[in-house]
Amino acid sequence: MAKALVVGAGAVGNVVVHKLIQRSNIFDGVLLASRTIEKCERIAARVSESIEIAQVDADDAPKLARLIRESHSQLVINAALPYQDLSIMEACLDAGVHYIDTANYETPEVARFEYRLQWGYHDAFHVRGITAVLGCGFDPGMTNAYCAYAQKHLFDRIDTVDIIDCNDGSHGRPFATNFNPEVNIREVTAPGRYYEDGEWHVTKPLSQSALFDFPGVGVRRAYLMYHEELESLARFLPGVRRLRFWMTFSDRYLTYLNVLQDLGLTRIDPVDYDGHPVVPLKLLKQLLPDPASLAEAYTGRTSIACLIRGVRGGVEREHILYNNCDHAACYKEVGSQAISYTTGVPAVAGAVMLMTGKWAQPGVFNVEQLDPDPFLLEASNLGLPWYLA
Ligand code: NDP
Repeated sequence: MAKALVVGAGAVGNVVVHKLIQRSNIFDGVLLASRTIEKCERIAARVSESIEIAQVDADDAPKLARLIRESHSQLVINAALPYQDLSIMEACLDAGVHYIDTANYETPEVARFEYRLQWGYHDAFHVRGITAVLGCGFDPGMTNAYCAYAQKHLFDRIDTVDIIDCNDGSHGRPFATNFNPEVNIREVTAPGRYYEDGEWHVTKPLSQSALFDFPGVGVRRAYLMYHEELESLARFLPGVRRLRFWMTFSDRYLTYLNVLQDLGLTRIDPVDYDGHPVVPLKLLKQLLPDPASLAEAYTGRTSIACLIRGVRGGVEREHILYNNCDHAACYKEVGSQAISYTTGVPAVAGAVMLMTGKWAQPGVFNVEQLDPDPFLLEASNLGLPWYLA
């Protein structure tokens, strides 16, 4: 039996806590710690079992390490923001416990979307005999496991991967983001980038689009974007020739985004307001709906897939591995919408892998480096079935 410490009481943190409780045969204790204690209290009041809660600033690694030790946790699931990744990894190293996150480390000042600094911890985690699993949400996370599965069972050689991500749901608000607005808008407004023949190609933000037939949803237009799993897949998927990531956006979302950009409200550098430095995107985050608040009215479903082409037995093949997730069903089950659900479930499936010894190898790993079979089974059992066509 193990105790899990969840950092971050947001939309994803809520799902993670619910799902850990569903695995009470493995996790006999859950501690939810976040910057705002009231958010922990709200989640604790919603779940069926009693959990511990604590206030913590995860930017303060020594304090977090103390909390890990005092609570006797064996694993930390980072459901806070990408800015906290390194300090939480430091705290795990200090306390000697496993680490899982769902998004790569970001510096507040510059949007980089790279794993370099987190990969730099590999030797330290290895020597300490603990494991860090990076990007264990849906994309990154399940998408990486789909690629690993395809490599293990479906292809002798993978040539191209297109990750296609469609949220075909509707939350009824004029403009909102499905996860943390600051992180989401940084990602969407960044230049596009894809990998081909050993090189990275940069495109203007959202300047290329194509139609895809999304399983369970239908034909939708998706836009080429950079997404962090491309970096790890380029490194860990041997021989792959091309990797691209595509996401759908409604015309309405794109219109709002363009206006916000034109007004300078998506800037991440501080501007002076009356003698005070204000980061426009942080101000915008405060004004936009909290992603957790969208859940109640959300209808429709997500369709996220890996479209993979390659060769098996000398014959060219194409497969699609995917999941559909229904917003209203997620709300009924755990009080969250599908984007948070599809992020939180894999994080808990990864935690189960670590605690049951199925991913027991010390160091820092991305999901595609680890055995996909038990992970995909566990994620299915926890609510994210996957399909192959
Ligand atoms: P939210 O903004 O809803 O929640 C983030 C939580 O982290 C908030 O409760 C926040 O506290 C807390 N937090 C922020 N800073 C600190 C800190 N210094 N110390 C302690 N707690 C802190 O975000 P989401 O739940 O929507 O997203 C969580 C993570 O999931 C993000 O990193 C996001 O990028 C990732 N994600 C990954 C996806 C994937 O598929 N891989 C998809 C979607 C999201 P407070 O309320 O006080 O600010």
